[in-house]
Amino acid sequence: MKGAPFLGANGRPAPGGRVVQMVFQDPLAALDPRMTIGAQLDEVLVATGHGQAEAERDRLLDSVGLGRHFAGRYPHELSGGQRQRAVIARALAAKPKLLICDEALAALDVSVQAQMLALLSRLKTEFGLSLLFISHQLSTVRYLCDEVAVMYAGRIVEQGTAAQVFTAARHPYTRMLLASTLHPNAANRYSEPVIGEPPDPLALPRGCPFHPRCALRHDRCETERPPLETHGDRLVACHLESDRSSAVA
Ligand code: SF4
Repeated sequence: MKGAPFLGANGRPAPGGRVVQMVFQDPLAALDPRMTIGAQLDEVLVATGHGQAEAERDRLLDSVGLGRHFAGRYPHELSGGQRQRAVIARALAAKPKLLICDEALAALDVSVQAQMLALLSRLKTEFGLSLLFISHQLSTVRYLCDEVAVMYAGRIVEQGTAAQVFTAARHPYTRMLLASTLHPNAANRYSEPVIGEPPDPLALPRGCPFHPRCALRHDRCETERPPLETHGDRLVACHLESDRSSAVA
């Protein structure tokens, strides 16, 4: 971990490790506007002990689909999608094991998002990366992720494989979330209506935080927070699942 940089929100090396790197939503804010893309890659390569390796810099730019001729350009000369590719190249320069993408595609056009999804999917294999992909866009999660954790009010309420969660959601919030998205086959859509608003994180409801919006709530839900437990093939935090498991036992 000697000299290993972790790139902070301003895109500059910060204390941390090269094992984990971040890609943020706004690539323009993440890149240094006064440095060329090549210089920003060099900075990471030097800090991680690779030296100013022009060949490695060119390889990274080629890998993310920019091409080595982008090394001399400044962030303001790039489109949104190109900037995000540059941010990914810079993250990969640190040779991370885990790449955290926090709403990394949200600011991009839909057509560019599709290209970026294909790119991330390829880089996973090419660089042997694990991706932690944080997103509100369920279709992109479904395309890219093997394992999915659905969060409500800051806690995981359901976790399983993408196939399990998207085709047979068990938590009422997951079902409501999936019901709110368009599906090409209407017969395959969940039908739960979207009720109410998310709670104030500083004043969460007692018991299950989802109970004011849950059509299936019962008395216990208003006083007792359901733990995240294994139920069959996945983790779920819902009293209904606990009741079902107890009934089967
Ligand atoms: Fe609904 Fe109760 Fe389950 Fe919470 S614990 S999701 S309120 S049924």
